[in-house]
Amino acid sequence: MTFDYDDQNIFAKILRGEIPNQTVYENDHALAFNDINPQAPVHVLVIPKGAYVSLDHFARDASPAEQAGFMQAVAEVCRLTDVAQGFRAIANTRSHGVQDVPHYHLHIIGGRQLGRMLQ
Ligand code: AMP
Repeated sequence: MTFDYDDQNIFAKILRGEIPNQTVYENDHALAFNDINPQAPVHVLVIPKGAYVSLDHFARDASPAEQAGFMQAVAEVCRLTDVAQGFRAIANTRSHGVQDVPHYHLHIIGGRQLGRMLQ
């Protein structure tokens, strides 16, 4: 499988500083920022700084340092936000997964009781 990365996607523009964001946490390999259309009191997107289209692209091709940096950002988001009672992590992936922005991102959604989601 080949993954064609479009560097004009909105998260690429955020990473280049062309569009503002509300940063929650940042390290060398990942950026976490508030979703512009939050679905819950906590709705943070964690993205790698590398050019990865989707979760499967990142899992296959990101280096161990990139993967560790990404997971460290997830841990920091969990520490910095109100998710002590739990949360949901979602990676919508390509067309069947209804992924809108073609730069890998993990939604961290919490801060309230969520409903069941699998259909
Ligand atoms: P997905 O459907 O998983 O690709 O979700 C993309 C998410 O990006 C949606 O929840 C949008 O609200 C969010 N989003 C789009 N543009 C921005 C932006 N400029 N800043 C923060 N979040 C954004």
